[in-house]
Amino acid sequence: MTTHTTACPLDCPDHCSLSIEVEDGRVTEIEGNEVNPVTKGYICAKVRRLPDALYGPDRVLTPAIRSGPKGSGQFRAVSWDEALDTIAGTLVQIRDVHGGEAIYPISYGGSNGFLSQDTTDARLFWRLGASNIKRAVCSAPTGRAAVGLYGKMPGVSYEDYPNARLIVIWGANPAATGIHLMPYLQEAIAAGAKLVVIDPRRTKVAAKAHLHLAIHPGTDLPFALAIARWLFHNQGVDQQFLNEHATGVDAFRECAELWTLERAADACGIVPESIESFARLYRDTSPALIRCGWGLEGNRNGGSAVAAILALPALAGKFKIQSGGYTLSNSASWPMSTVLAAAAEPPNTRTINMNRLGDALTVYNDPPVHALFVYNCNPLATMPEQEKVRRGLEREDLFTVVFDSFLTDTALFADVVLPAATFLERHELSRGYGSLSLQRGMPVIDRVGQSRTNHEVFLELVRRTGLAKPGDPQTEAEIEGAILKSMPEAGEAIERGNGFAHPPFGARPVQFVDVFPRTSDRKVHLFPEELDQEAARGLYDYAPDPATTRFPLALISPATHRTITSTLGQLVRGHVALEMHPADAEPRRIRTNDLVRVWNASGEVMCRVTLSDSIRPGVVCLPKGLWSRHTQNGRTANALSPGTFTDLGDGACFNDARVDVAPAN
Ligand code: SF4
Repeated sequence: MTTHTTACPLDCPDHCSLSIEVEDGRVTEIEGNEVNPVTKGYICAKVRRLPDALYGPDRVLTPAIRSGPKGSGQFRAVSWDEALDTIAGTLVQIRDVHGGEAIYPISYGGSNGFLSQDTTDARLFWRLGASNIKRAVCSAPTGRAAVGLYGKMPGVSYEDYPNARLIVIWGANPAATGIHLMPYLQEAIAAGAKLVVIDPRRTKVAAKAHLHLAIHPGTDLPFALAIARWLFHNQGVDQQFLNEHATGVDAFRECAELWTLERAADACGIVPESIESFARLYRDTSPALIRCGWGLEGNRNGGSAVAAILALPALAGKFKIQSGGYTLSNSASWPMSTVLAAAAEPPNTRTINMNRLGDALTVYNDPPVHALFVYNCNPLATMPEQEKVRRGLEREDLFTVVFDSFLTDTALFADVVLPAATFLERHELSRGYGSLSLQRGMPVIDRVGQSRTNHEVFLELVRRTGLAKPGDPQTEAEIEGAILKSMPEAGEAIERGNGFAHPPFGARPVQFVDVFPRTSDRKVHLFPEELDQEAARGLYDYAPDPATTRFPLALISPATHRTITSTLGQLVRGHVALEMHPADAEPRRIRTNDLVRVWNASGEVMCRVTLSDSIRPGVVCLPKGLWSRHTQNGRTANALSPGTFTDLGDGACFNDARVDVAPAN
């Protein structure tokens, strides 16, 4: 038996360092090690079970071509040569007949490493003149707000949480996603810190909170603005900090002025005293920090809500002290570019927002999408408007390639399936976005089946489509070298650290001391003009709840401990239940474990129900990332999500789904 060290690049903030035990060429055990100090020697249960997926029945082992109807999952194994020639020939033919824009490559964070996205893949699709992708299914509104206010300034590290006196967990559930924050939270609480949790559900973290504010989904904006207004009116504003470090204070204050405690409480479905208690605690406690998550962004007000939340530490003067400020995404700690690795320029072709995949496949006509190339994602499980996406994938005239390690819901609709190497079978370079780390991952086993890396496959497709050019980076080492060239300190740091590095400003930055806003004037912009112009109603303008008498319940679909979005969904056994408050169930004559129908104008999900007072009345919950096998009718929460966009970033409004629920019979 041998033990190897590598890093987990999956789409999770923690970015664990891993110890992998290998026996007879097979992974037998995966554990966390302490190369990344944040990992603390343990990892999540889902990655500990990764060997079940690596060698399980859903693993794609060979290239294959469809042999049955679309969606049937019937394939015949073929050689790599046949699969690649089929793909290259078809893509070239589609480009020549319909134009490059008829090809749509869709990818997201399924791999989440630098080497496997926007490098050789971009070279292929850019040179083909394919449609560009806007990756907006997650973190688009938070990203726009963070860029607009702070230019994506890195945030407080996990290691600094124990010294905070007040921690606000807002729209995040670290006990399920980002588990390595939990010991630091426990340490802080044991040392006397106050914990405030803002979440419509009483999660494990909320159960530990001194103050749990179960506001209605989509009302974080009025809640945050009411806090801001209270601070302005109650000596809670650090005027000196604002004079030195902020712009847009008056415009922001004007927006906040509209939100009295009473008005905000009415919108949020809580009592005004709760908002005031939180505001007072926030004003009076230091160091205070806010962990802003991604749970609050997926609604019509998501971008403005995140902006208003991020404004609070500036208003209240919570920066310039260790353990004070905020944490959102720390990915900007490593601002590297993959453009040199791609060795190509993005074409001047149309851009299709991935949240519009359903329309792109069923409505777009200029030109229609004739080829869909799916990699690093599972869009049938993860995109909004699932029924439209499904109808699109069923099109007989759509040529679909799915390049994945596992036979996902989307892969069942493929014309050609290609087996992708997992991160345990290849090199990777990845960064954390909670942890501030950069790590190099190494292959710890030989390839399972005939799997290949993204670079190998796209390099070969570039060659077979006749698009290769002299000087193209050829090897993964050259790709990594080209990426590190865009940030030479990163290359030096990762060599020095033997595959692990902290950013140049250190592992525990103090905001406004070690790191500053990356805005043009290094100030926080509390009312960025560009965001105000982008938001259809104007920045910080609240759009009311979309519930109707026909569809009165708010459906939320939060991430859970069981999957990373839909990644490793095959390890979730059996069906998954809808969570519902007894007060909503009783008038509908629904009891625990009943089979229910959850529906709206977009679709219908049939599943069991669990009654629980951990969720606020008026809200029901079906987890994010389910596969079709997890419900009775093969549909998931995405079948109920609207096609509307968030106010900033054109993100998906998953949590604006409004539904009704009834017994299935
Ligand atoms: S998914 Fe997250 S917690 Fe699990 S091993 Fe990877 S980085 Fe660690």
